[in-house]
Amino acid sequence: MSKYIFITGGVVSSVGKGISVASIGRILKSRGISVSVQKLDPYLNVDPGTMSPYQHGEVFVTQDGAETDLDLGHYERFVGIELSQSSNVTSGQVYSSVIAQERRGDFLGGTIQVVPHVTNEIKRRIREVTEISRADLMLVEVGGTVGDIEGQPFLEAIRQMRKDEGRDNVLYIHVTFLPHIAATDEVKTKPTQHSVNELRRIGIQPDVILCRSDKEISESTKDKIALFCDVDREAVISLITSETIYEVPLLLEEAGLGEIIVDRFGLSRTESDLEEWREMVTRLKAPKETVVIGLIGKYVELRDAYYSVREALCHAALAHDREVRIEWLDSEELNGVADDKLGHVQGIVVPGGFGCRGVEGMVKAARFARERGIPYLGLCLGMQTMIIEFGRHVFGTEGVNSTEFDTDSTYPVIDLSLDQRGVEQKGGTMRLGTYPCHLVSGTTAARIYDSDVAYERHRHRYEFNNSFRQPLEESGLVASGLSPDGRLVEIAELRDHPWMVACQFHPEFKSRPDSPHPLFLGFIGAAKETLVEGAQTSLPLE
Ligand code: GLN
Repeated sequence: MSKYIFITGGVVSSVGKGISVASIGRILKSRGISVSVQKLDPYLNVDPGTMSPYQHGEVFVTQDGAETDLDLGHYERFVGIELSQSSNVTSGQVYSSVIAQERRGDFLGGTIQVVPHVTNEIKRRIREVTEISRADLMLVEVGGTVGDIEGQPFLEAIRQMRKDEGRDNVLYIHVTFLPHIAATDEVKTKPTQHSVNELRRIGIQPDVILCRSDKEISESTKDKIALFCDVDREAVISLITSETIYEVPLLLEEAGLGEIIVDRFGLSRTESDLEEWREMVTRLKAPKETVVIGLIGKYVELRDAYYSVREALCHAALAHDREVRIEWLDSEELNGVADDKLGHVQGIVVPGGFGCRGVEGMVKAARFARERGIPYLGLCLGMQTMIIEFGRHVFGTEGVNSTEFDTDSTYPVIDLSLDQRGVEQKGGTMRLGTYPCHLVSGTTAARIYDSDVAYERHRHRYEFNNSFRQPLEESGLVASGLSPDGRLVEIAELRDHPWMVACQFHPEFKSRPDSPHPLFLGFIGAAKETLVEGAQTSLPLE
């Protein structure tokens, strides 16, 4: 019988519930327990693929091509697993399938209600991922905060799960926030009490309360929470804001959470082995020389939009014993003044994006990198901007573009792929998920991957236009990664440049703190050798 841990959030959002869940996954894995993780998102969108990054941050893509919540990125990075379509459930998916069943007549004239029809569908989806993953223990995070109207059916479903699965097989963890009042220098518990009351009203009594706070929580504060919220004293766990997110598994294990979970479920008490993780965190926190990377994007004021890119840079820098300092540069502001803003960066990353806003600034950044010999890593849109820039240089005209930004371009070096023509529906219709990429021997890409083939995750509609391949290749563009049939250019690089490599896929989704991605490793390796004036002395901007 599988065990379930349901994690809810209280008081406010953005208290790091996703990181806590990912960290719990890590501490259980370190005790030899197989885990899988699922996120239940109460919003009505079918998936976040159609949502603006301003609303939702990054869209994380799973190997099987699901466009999911960025928390799945935390789960994969911390637990070291690969998740799937079924690991992210939204109200939109649940309601669509219940309504489709109703239209088919599956309910034989019954009245369709939130309880039991919607809650049954939610429970079916939780059990489905348990079966697929064959994990001993399922971690299920409910998105949003207790009290949200949309979250009610999910809370009702997880309440029923305790009865269905047996009381000893289900544990509820509530993650709350304890605000600090500066005037009296106190950390307050009242919002937590209210939020636990709200949970109890639905019928869920938390077994563990994780108290996020920016300040130390006193023993008497913990006593108070234990008393008012009716939770064992040792199950009130404090989680103080840490220097790095990767420290959270260590803090939770030290606070005794691993032991509590194992005891409650009556699992065998295997020793926790977090030694390698601890060593990684120690190295991460140690002072190191910096490597300054300019990240040129259009959503830079919202860093969550580039979460996996930022993490992948940090993982690769650590492997090179460097600390990465990212300068977040708004591509719209770059147009015209690239030289001033990029003068001291040792490497340039142009990440993914959609729509024409800010693209000219990215093209400027690619030109700067090409002309000055600065290492450049292009990710999806970043490959397309590199090719547009190189095309403009080779053909000597600004008319070179992607048809995404100029439908009448005379040199459409990037164009809609054949399978994308005529696609009208926006949701879930891009080229999505893992595809093989053959690495062309003798290229930088083949050298850094040290392999003939790579499997990488995609999320885009546009591709390199093969009609321009020959003239661009003759001028120094190298198609160094190709689809197995040779038709799609998956990686491109410049022959006459120290390190200018870009890919049509998103390697950032596969980077892990303990196993950085080869492309990011290669890029940081080249960037750290790049001497630019002021690189080491620049102010920390992050
Ligand atoms: N907008 C581009 C495309 O659809 C790039 C997408 C991306 O960067 N993910 O092809």
